[in-house]
Formats: sequence, structure tokens, C-alpha cells
Amino acid sequence: MTRFIFITGGVVSSLGKGLASAALGALLQSRGYKVRLRKLDPYLNVDPGTMSPTQHGEVYVTDDGAETDLDLGHYERFTGVPSRRSDNVTTGKIYSTVLAKERRGDYLGGTVQVIPHVTDAIKTFVLSDIDDEDFMLVEIGGTVGDIEGLPFLEAIRQLGNELGSQRTMFIHLTLLPYIPTAGELKTKPTQHSVKELLSVGIQPDLLLCRADRQIPDGERRKVALFCNVPYENVIPALDVSTIYEVPISYHEEKLDVQVLKHFGIEAAPKVDLSRWEFVRGRVAKPEGEVTIAVVGKYTSLLDSYKSLAEALTHGGIANNVKVKLDWIDAQVFEKEDAAYYLENVGGILVPGGFGERGAEGKIKAAQFARERKVPYLGICFGMQMAVIEAARNMAGITGASSTEFGPTKEPLVGIMTEWLQGNTLVRRHANDDLGGTMRLGAYECHIKPGTLAHEVYGSERIMERHRHRYEVNINYRDRLEGAGLLFSGMSPDGLLPEIVENPDHPWFIGVQFHPELKSKPFEPHPLFTAFVKASIEHSRLV
Ligand code: GLN
Repeated sequence: MTRFIFITGGVVSSLGKGLASAALGALLQSRGYKVRLRKLDPYLNVDPGTMSPTQHGEVYVTDDGAETDLDLGHYERFTGVPSRRSDNVTTGKIYSTVLAKERRGDYLGGTVQVIPHVTDAIKTFVLSDIDDEDFMLVEIGGTVGDIEGLPFLEAIRQLGNELGSQRTMFIHLTLLPYIPTAGELKTKPTQHSVKELLSVGIQPDLLLCRADRQIPDGERRKVALFCNVPYENVIPALDVSTIYEVPISYHEEKLDVQVLKHFGIEAAPKVDLSRWEFVRGRVAKPEGEVTIAVVGKYTSLLDSYKSLAEALTHGGIANNVKVKLDWIDAQVFEKEDAAYYLENVGGILVPGGFGERGAEGKIKAAQFARERKVPYLGICFGMQMAVIEAARNMAGITGASSTEFGPTKEPLVGIMTEWLQGNTLVRRHANDDLGGTMRLGAYECHIKPGTLAHEVYGSERIMERHRHRYEVNINYRDRLEGAGLLFSGMSPDGLLPEIVENPDHPWFIGVQFHPELKSKPFEPHPLFTAFVKASIEHSRLV
């Protein structure tokens, strides 16, 4: 029997609802329960794939090829459970489904309305594609009081009624702000937020209260009294020094105990937090430090590189060092000397990206890394730019470019019009819609034995997640290999370059996929472990 825990947020946005949900998932999992997490996003885009990373943050890609909210990345990093397409939905998607049904005539002449048709579609989504999970945690995006969130709140209210309190629980995440002039943590915003929830018929069962300091008992009692929640279910969620400490801190505040109590589970398996204690220990007391430059384009909002930053932290955990990230806007290299910024770093990473702006700067960063023998990891766009750099400066193809930037005589990187997905041929056209039409999700890659990539992965067959529209042009392979670049990983049909490396360099790898999406703190991705290791070694030289 799957139980549902609905997590809403109030007072202000950015309280870390995704992290809180992920941490609760991890905590229940550490008691031996099978968990999954889902997110309901109230915005109108069908998925976040078409949104600018600087507005919405990273687009997280699942194995089954869905472009989803970055909170799904937290879920996977905290629980290790691969997210699926069925774990994220938006208002846009729900309405597309409802409107398609209306056009087909499925509503048999009825008037189509938010209640019950839209709310039914939301409920169907929440209840679909469930295996034998003990707990399904469902996070509702946004903050209570948002107009667009109403149908979602109504749908989960109905589910609470239909399934009963033995199978559903409502958790509300709020903030107790500290007011310096009063010298107090204030409960009023939380009271208002709970009122707002009550106005749509939801009485929260438990409040998770964010605060930047200890919540005095008096305030905790006050929240309990005014919000009609048992004192034990007003759980402090205090700031911690690393996000990976959250499951432990929630356990210390008895969140898991109270959740299990709500469901009437008395004899729960004992908690085993050793995995989190190990991670916390490594993050809190690293033996050294290494600086890695991330040369990107969306550096104004670091959420656009969420999984990447986490994966680098994981590489640090594996090597017992703290990884310091130096975020550099690629465009600076178009005017200034790369050496000034990159001379003293341990490694250089050029992440995924879209469009021409900053591309020449990324090419300069790859050139600096290659010539000065600085460890380089190019991810997706970062691989494509490294190939263009190699073409121009190693193979003498001076006009090398990508068709992403406009017509070119030397399309080292070109638009993909067809590729194999398993045994199915997928076709695309340059004028297709932008949403959901890239090469998305997990694809197999074959690695050449004896290469650096082979050493890193310790395997000849890997599966990695993709999100790209362009590919390295296989027709240039011979010229590039003749000039010293090695194609060490290919798609199974041998047509799509997946990994390139530079054997005449201590550590230089470009990958067409996104390894950062699969890294976990307790299971760091081998590419990040190896890249951070090489960067530590390089730091000792500079
Ligand atoms: N813009 C490039 C492409 O579409 C790279 C995409 C990426 O880095 N994710 O192929």
C-alpha cells in the first residue's frame, strides 16, 4: 500500500522545498522503506525544456528522456532512485492532456471545467505509474496563495479525502523570520500561510519550519496552537552547513518518527544513517582543497548548473578534498587573456550550453587547457567546443564551426537529423518545434579499450543521459584523429561521437552526454572522481 506525502510551501519561495522533500525521502529510505518522489509544477510551460536556465535553473533529464524540474535532481541525489517521466508534471502538460481529450470528444458533450476535469487529470497523474513504493512524496511547486497553484491544491485536497489520513499526509514548509529589532523569530507569516492553506481546505498535519537559529519552545508552542498542529509536529528545519546534513538534522528533530506516527506505523525498521554520516564527515573535514574553473554562460544563476556543482562536490568527496568552484563567464576570454584567469586553477570545466554567445571564449578555455596541460572536462557543448578548437589549432581547419551558429563551410559540429534509439530510427528536421525534440535521455556508448575513458569507467559499455540537438561530425574523424584527437567513445552504431580525448595530455576528456546528472554524494560519478583527482595532481604542479 503506497502512502502519499504532499509537501507544500508557504511564506516565501526558495525555502528549499525540493531539498526538504528529498531529505525526507532519504530519511524514510534509511529506515528501509521504498520511496519515490514527484513534483507538480504549476507553470504553463509543458515542461521546463524551453525555459532559459537563468530563469528556471537547470533542466534535469531523466533516463527515459523527460526534461524536468531541477528538484528531480535533488530527489535522485538523495535517494539514488532514478526519476522518470511520470515524476514531473506542469499545468501546461495537464491542460494539453485535457484539451486533447476535449478535441477527441472524450467528454461526450460536457462542459470542460477546472473542477473536476483538470483536477481529475492531476489526480490521475499522481496515482499513475506507481510500483510497490511504501511512500510517494509529492512536492507542489510554488507557494500557497499563487493563483496557478490552486487546481493542484484542490486535487491533493480531494486525494486526502478519498484515500483517508491513513494513506495521506500534508506537510507544509514555512519560514520563521528573525527580526533583529525585536530580537525574535516571528510566527505570524507561518500562521498566515497555514490560513491560506486552510482556505483551500487543507489542514497541514506537520509543519517544517525553516529558521536561521534555534526556535525557542515558546514560539514552537505558539505555532502549534495557532496552526492547529500538535507540538511534536512543529519541526524545526534549521540552516545547516551542507545540504547533505539535512537528513541527519531532520532525524535529530524526529521528523521521521512523527511521519511514521501519523501513518500509525509503530514498529518501523531502525534508521541507518551511516551513508549520510560518511558524506557529512567528508564534506566537513576535507584533507585539502582544489580550485576548478567552470567556464560557462549562465553563471548569473548558479541553479543553472545545479547538478554540475553537486557532481564536482561529489568528486571532492571521493578524493577527500573540498572543491572550490571559480565561475567564469566565457565571454571574458573574448577580450582578455585566458591565462590571467586560468593559470592557477587545478582544472577547467566547460559545461553544457546553447547558442553562439560565449562560444569563442569556451574555445579559448579549451585551447588554454590543451596547450598548458591543465585537466579539462568538456560536457556536451564543452565537448563540441573542444573539438572545434582541436580542428582549428591541431588539424589546421581554420574555419571550423558549428551549424548551431549559422551556415558554415566547415561544420565540425552539425545538426542531428536522425539517430538510433535502440532499434528505432528517430528523425528530426531543422524546423521542428524546440520543445522535447532533442536527443534526450539514456543512450548506450561503447568505449574503446586502452583509452583514458576506459580507465575512468572501467567498462566498455556505459549508459549516459543526453540532451543535445547537434553532434560532432563523423566525417572529420580521420582528420582529427590524424592530428592527435582520439574518439574513445561512440554510439553502438559507430556514427555518433560520444567521448573524445587527447592522448598527448595528462587528462583531457570531452563527453557528448551529461555525467553530472547521475552522480550521487554516496556514489560519485567516475568522471568527476577522476577529473578532480587529475586537478589535485595538476594543482601540485602550479
Ligand atoms: N547546444 C548544443 C546542442 O544542442 C549543446 C547542448 C548541451 O550542451 N546540452 O547540441
